[in-house]
Amino acid sequence: MTTHPIIQTVLNQQTYFNSLATRSYDFRIRQLQTLKQGIIKFEAEFTRALKQDLGKPEFESYASEIGFSLHEIGFVIKHLKKWMRPRRVKTPLLCQPASSRIHYTPLGVNLIIAPFNYPVGLTLGPLTAAIAAGNTAVLKTSELTPHCSAVIQKMIEDGFDPAYIAYIPGEIPETTLLLEQKFDHIFFTGSPRVGAIVMQAAAKTLTPVTLELGGKSPCIVHADARLNIAANRIVYGKFFNTGQTCIAPDYVLVHETVARAFLDALIQRITRLYGKAPLSCPDYGRIVSPGHFKRIMALIDPDKIVAGGQHDEKERFIAPTVMANVTLEDKVMTEEIFGPVLPVLTYTRFDDICDIIGKLPGHPLACYLFSESKTVQEEVMSRIPFGGGSINHCLQHFINPHLPFGGIGESGMGSYHGFDGFERFSHKKSILKAGSKIDLPLGYPPYKKKLGLLKRFMR
Ligand code: NAD
Repeated sequence: MTTHPIIQTVLNQQTYFNSLATRSYDFRIRQLQTLKQGIIKFEAEFTRALKQDLGKPEFESYASEIGFSLHEIGFVIKHLKKWMRPRRVKTPLLCQPASSRIHYTPLGVNLIIAPFNYPVGLTLGPLTAAIAAGNTAVLKTSELTPHCSAVIQKMIEDGFDPAYIAYIPGEIPETTLLLEQKFDHIFFTGSPRVGAIVMQAAAKTLTPVTLELGGKSPCIVHADARLNIAANRIVYGKFFNTGQTCIAPDYVLVHETVARAFLDALIQRITRLYGKAPLSCPDYGRIVSPGHFKRIMALIDPDKIVAGGQHDEKERFIAPTVMANVTLEDKVMTEEIFGPVLPVLTYTRFDDICDIIGKLPGHPLACYLFSESKTVQEEVMSRIPFGGGSINHCLQHFINPHLPFGGIGESGMGSYHGFDGFERFSHKKSILKAGSKIDLPLGYPPYKKKLGLLKRFMR
């Protein structure tokens, strides 16, 4: 009987990992260079594929996928030697004579599952971290972005031995079969719904998971915010990649005293960036699939539109759309929008903000605040649970490789980027190395008369 190719791939990777081939610094650096060269070699194909799958403008493709991946690899290459060094920590008197170190060891064979919205960056980002930490990896991308998936497959097969890095083509049945295999770690980026499926599958074999999920991320515009700056940056954060960004501001909570002025600034900014006919704007993308087009359209209440609303099903086009006078009862507030529709709600007191966010399911992946007040900034940071965020900007915390990126509760578990990515794909092996020249008898029987001394050490 022949073994299914997917099962065989995982078995081959286990053998490859056990050969210790992936461990050395030199090997990891060579593989990171191969990945970098692969991205450069296939840059034009990636740009074309991103246009075909998501209508992505070339600038957005480079900023958030191709250039972003290259930048992350460069950052990792620059720091890897330091990160790989065992970290010396203190050793208490009780354990002396000894020294203690944390050794970063690779987890083993990893399954990386990517979503559709940044198909290149969100596949190659975790892969970079997996390689840096000395692992092997099996990659599975989304069936919604077939052109990007084809280029990723070509690039991976061009540069890597599948016993080390493998790409598995296919759709949900292939992912399901993958999830039945024994991995050492599953890194999943996608919706909370599928995240739960992944976690259930992983629980059967006690496989650790990293879940990078989504949710409704609020954007608060306080009464003292610089409204033009807020409008500029919210339009950027919301309509970049046509709103299909996990950390896009899902909705705006604006202080009622500045709501009118803020809406005016928002509408003006949208027209300035995308023109009066955004369908023909070269800097604006498309919705990934007919299914998502229909889903997003069903969230819009035409009576509440104050900007946008134009759409074209054949083109999978939805204009940057703003809805005003929105309440929690509106359909648009019942699920993550993940599209170019921005509902605006108002608040009066700070407690209203907490109430509204608290009534929505789960903790947000991101939160944005526009305010000049340190007190308000501190209150938002301390009172509202969320994965991460930016003050007076949108999306920026994602870009900084020194900041760990991840969710909390239903928006995810575990973080990555930069050192945190390396750490995420590593096991922290704690080693205490004891001196063997003397052997203090404090901890051994007979215990008579030793308890008093022990108590002095341990208090
Ligand atoms: P999704 O959950 O539908 O799909 C993600 C991956 O899971 C895809 O590769 C898909 O093929 C696979 N999949 C789908 N159904 C499956 C099933 N039944 N069994 C096994 N695998 C299955 O997510 P999506 O629509 O591709 O992406 C959008 C979601 O991802 C949003 O919720 C967004 O917030 C989230 N997201 C999160 C991050 C983050 O970094 N936290 C980044 C991007 C997207």
